[in-house]
Amino acid sequence: MGDTAVGESIERWKHLDRIRATAGPFTPAESGFEAENVVPTVNKMKILVIGAGGLGCEILKDLALSGFKDIHVIDMDTIDISNLNRQFLFRKSDVGKFKAEVAAQFVMRRVRGVTITPHNKRIQEFDEAFYMQFQIVVCGLDSIEARRWINATLVSMAEETEDGEGIKPLIDGGTEGFKGQARVIIPTITSCIECQLDMHAPRAAVPLCTIASIPRQPEHCIEWAHIIAWDQEKPFPALDEDDPEHITWLYQKALTRANEFSIAGVTYALTQGVVKNIIPAIASTNAVIAASCCNEALKVATSVVQPLGFEENYMMYSGNESIYTYTFKHERKKDCPVCSEDQRARPLVTDLNETLGDFLDSFSERAEAQLKNPSIRAEGKTLYMRSPASLEEQTRLNLKRTLKELKLEHGFEVAITDPAFPSLIFNFILTAK
Ligand SMILES: [Zn+2]
Repeated sequence: MGDTAVGESIERWKHLDRIRATAGPFTPAESGFEAENVVPTVNKMKILVIGAGGLGCEILKDLALSGFKDIHVIDMDTIDISNLNRQFLFRKSDVGKFKAEVAAQFVMRRVRGVTITPHNKRIQEFDEAFYMQFQIVVCGLDSIEARRWINATLVSMAEETEDGEGIKPLIDGGTEGFKGQARVIIPTITSCIECQLDMHAPRAAVPLCTIASIPRQPEHCIEWAHIIAWDQEKPFPALDEDDPEHITWLYQKALTRANEFSIAGVTYALTQGVVKNIIPAIASTNAVIAASCCNEALKVATSVVQPLGFEENYMMYSGNESIYTYTFKHERKKDCPVCSEDQRARPLVTDLNETLGDFLDSFSERAEAQLKNPSIRAEGKTLYMRSPASLEEQTRLNLKRTLKELKLEHGFEVAITDPAFPSLIFNFILTAK
């Protein structure tokens, strides 16, 4: 029995070992690739996976099958019944249990010789010493905020160590419907997630005139039913997005309008998606992006092929209509609040007649900021601070004053902080409209 297991095991890894321990025409001469060291080195590596959801399940399985032996996974979520259609390591009997734990157990059962250590926590609960123990970090997250946090942490770790030990390559995957991306970040050396923040710009709203007069897409017809028809006809006292009767009413209105303009594609599911602003998670997109991330992890770990990173560092994938990928180099930003050395302030187009409250609200939508709970200081004065409560109370009245009344002028520098990124200060130069 023991011998059969060993035999099986050798057979299982035979082809992988041939791939990872054989130099080829794309093996970089300067990478120091040594065939005989690859397998022992990878066996000893510690790799961290953040997220055990749609992407994370795929990533864990792919890493285990790529020969990584010591994997840790962080996820604070528990399994919901709606996860079961794509988070394939979970079964109905797992509903309510921790994702990280169930995923780790499942993969360890199937792939002999791999150890996966689950952490049912938030990433913010770990300190730098924890992150230092890993050689590679792979992210399969759906939150921009969590990505920005881990990015800032890894960049700060890289800055603090001089021997290069603190530089942990970050491999980040992300999907949205049929689209996705995989990128490799070498903290302090290449463009970081904060440099690339505008790639995650909040979705632009469709202009009301398009919705009202010249719809071109099924979504425009649904928005018309949602915003205009509902308001005119008020079929129910208040719209409840979870009430099937309300969604059906919107769907039928949208369908009638779509037929008038010969637009195809209005369905009940799409109506629900547009109204609730949800993008469906697609299992195949997760599989493609996770595979790409793990391919990069394998390259980083073995040096058998040059990984994404120093040159091209961003692979985008689109499966909306046919399949398309494009890989390019995202440059570092000289004014990046995380990885730039001189931390210079970025220009921010501002209407000085706006109230401080409206100005601060705009930070959640500005592509270059995306901050939900900003506090602000300017010219050495605190204009608004969310905590502690006493300071909030003292500065609250400022929210109703315009920037002009607060004596802010064109060219003034403001410092924004947000509790989501406790170590960062975002500096901006006000640029009057
Ligand atoms: Zn940066």
